Amino acid sequence: MSIYDLPEFDGHEHVSFFCDAASGLRAIIAIHSTAPYGLSGGGCRMQPYADATEAARDALRLSRAMSYKLALTDMPAGGAKTVVIGDPRRDKSETLLRALGAAVERLNGRYIIAEDVGTTPEDMRIIGQVTRYVSGKQQDTGPTTAHGVFTGLRVAVARHLGRSDLKGTRVAVQGLGAVGSRLCDELIAAGATLWVADIDPSAVERVCARHPGVTPLPNEAILAADVDVLAPCALGGILDDRTIGALRCKVVCGAANNQLAEERHAEALAARGILYAPDFVVNAGGVIGAAFDSGDGDTTQASAALRETERVGDLLGTVMARAEQDGVTPYAAAVAMAQDKVRQRRAQQPQP
Ligand code: NAD
Repeated sequence: MSIYDLPEFDGHEHVSFFCDAASGLRAIIAIHSTAPYGLSGGGCRMQPYADATEAARDALRLSRAMSYKLALTDMPAGGAKTVVIGDPRRDKSETLLRALGAAVERLNGRYIIAEDVGTTPEDMRIIGQVTRYVSGKQQDTGPTTAHGVFTGLRVAVARHLGRSDLKGTRVAVQGLGAVGSRLCDELIAAGATLWVADIDPSAVERVCARHPGVTPLPNEAILAADVDVLAPCALGGILDDRTIGALRCKVVCGAANNQLAEERHAEALAARGILYAPDFVVNAGGVIGAAFDSGDGDTTQASAALRETERVGDLLGTVMARAEQDGVTPYAAAVAMAQDKVRQRRAQQPQP
């Protein structure tokens, strides 16, 4: 099967494969769309993919979701994504990051790179020595993404469970990194009761030390925890035939990108009466917040960014209303709304 035939390809505008023997860099930059701004943005994920095909599929899937997210939130850029093949703990070096910066530079500003799983604001600072097409040099997008997920979760609980606040709401959080740990802080402040898990025991210890009432669970048990809400904040692909059958929550609302193993799993969740809040809607706080990143750590801007991410809750409300009106899942409604917007953006693109 050629890359054009992959279901994730979905009309991608540009896909580049980069290789730098000296630093060991193997990276794919997928640009779903730049229309009509001539510009795209998306994070850089580094992980030990089994092979280049798996990496390419992930890049395409993540890049398309990024386009949907940016279009739905009316941000003036299309979606893209970088994936770097390698273990960030073992294979990441300053030389590799500089080679990646050179790759981004070669795209002449059509793509702005940012952090994602496996990369950090410090990595972006190093990349920024080689190219100016980088976002998130100072500002960690964890807080804005977490605040967006929190506002989405509040709306999901209000509409699906009929509760006006989160007091006593039982939430299981998988993944306690930049987003998940902040989400825990906000949920605890709102009176929720939490169960948490992470493959990194030190991440669990940190959250439990801050919030003594939080209960740690083994990672294998977190998805099937007996809770109201499951908040996946680690990696994607976790909702499949096996895990959906075992879920005991009523709402899934979390930051992880591409939580559904396949699109049909949105129907499987709805058939079990579980509300799935589309990931690319509820995790949009990061892109909304990134627009406020002046690169100089201005804290006034940081609080303005947090306030602006509350748009995520409103957007989820609109998506849920459209889903009810059209008799489809919120996921299908969000995809349809996003595709309409991407089509409109492409129609405004000047022809060469
Ligand atoms: P992070 O790397 O800071 O944290 C991820 C956490 O998940 C880590 O603590 C890691 O140990 C844990 N983890 C990894 N694999 C796991 C597994 N199989 N089971 C349990 N825990 C596991 O990443 P983050 O920035 O917090 O992002 C979390 C998710 O949200 C990712 O899917 C990311 O793509 C998505 N997201 C993040 C942002 C952002 O602004 N950071 C924006 C949009 C979406």
